Amino acid sequence: EKTPLTLLGLGAMGTALARTWLDAGHPLTVWNRGPGRAEPLAALGARVAGSVTEAVAASGLVVLCLLDDASVDETLDGVDPTGKDLVNLTTSTPALARSRAAWAHGRGARFMDGGIMAVPPMIGVPASGGYIFYSGSRALFDAHRDTLAVPAGTSYVGEDAGSAALHDVALLSAMTGMFGGVSHAFALVRKEDIEPAAFARLLADWLVAMVPSVHLMASQLADGDYTRGVVSNLAMQVAGSPTLLRTAEEQGVSTELLTPYLSLMERRLAQGHGHEGTTGVVDLLAR
Ligand code: NDP
Repeated sequence: EKTPLTLLGLGAMGTALARTWLDAGHPLTVWNRGPGRAEPLAALGARVAGSVTEAVAASGLVVLCLLDDASVDETLDGVDPTGKDLVNLTTSTPALARSRAAWAHGRGARFMDGGIMAVPPMIGVPASGGYIFYSGSRALFDAHRDTLAVPAGTSYVGEDAGSAALHDVALLSAMTGMFGGVSHAFALVRKEDIEPAAFARLLADWLVAMVPSVHLMASQLADGDYTRGVVSNLAMQVAGSPTLLRTAEEQGVSTELLTPYLSLMERRLAQGHGHEGTTGVVDLLAR
């Protein structure tokens, strides 16, 4: 017997999740605020609830996948979660995840927050490498591990309900910086006779080649020795900054994505850390 569950929210992600549970034979109750999203799932066997209250009452395990924090608050307003296992997969901040856990606990419910590290086409495709961070009630995770593993891999990161959101947002933040750099790179070559697809292959390979340096940063942060293993020291990198900035000017490209990071590197150099790599920038960011 497969665990029955309820899913609130049938956007692109919610719909992808729902299909995997239906495919795997889980009895699924769905609810969506607006009309039209539930019908295709009903055709696949989902039960469609007419209200949030009815949807929550239908199953012991209730998963939310809504647009944002405001939509979660609006949807849960007035809901009695007593005895339920709530899993919020809506992208949230750590603080809100913790306050929702406290809200649920205070009403006799178990709570986990989740952060989805996948886009909808990766859901239900194990080979895609997509997975979901979970944190909060360990008992809830253990009880529903198999059900939660249906749409994507699971990574439980601790009892602190905010931990999944923090992991999620940290990875998304790194991605944001990476795509900022990618945008700048495409802008530099755009007007030239350089084929975008060929350039994209070079770009992707270069980024992949640079990625392992995160492990050196981690080991330097762990023992505080920011000079160990450095192959491209800060003094050399800062000396190269004007070349990056001048090239942007020559190509008629704004430097607004580059300058914040280059400024931090310059500040660290000015503090006398030219023999380090860039790990010291992490220290400068702490408020
Ligand atoms: P969509 O924009 O496709 O869907 C949003 C859903 O939220 C819809 O079901 C919408 O209902 C509902 N909603 C919006 N506002 C409210 C409200 N005030 N009250 C009730 N329901 C509301 O978003 P996704 O499905 O793509 O994303 C859902 C979550 O998944 C987000 O938190 C997102 O960050 C996360 N996520 C998404 C990824 C992606 O690539 N898509 C990747 C990783 C995480 P209605 O139909 O009525 O508008």
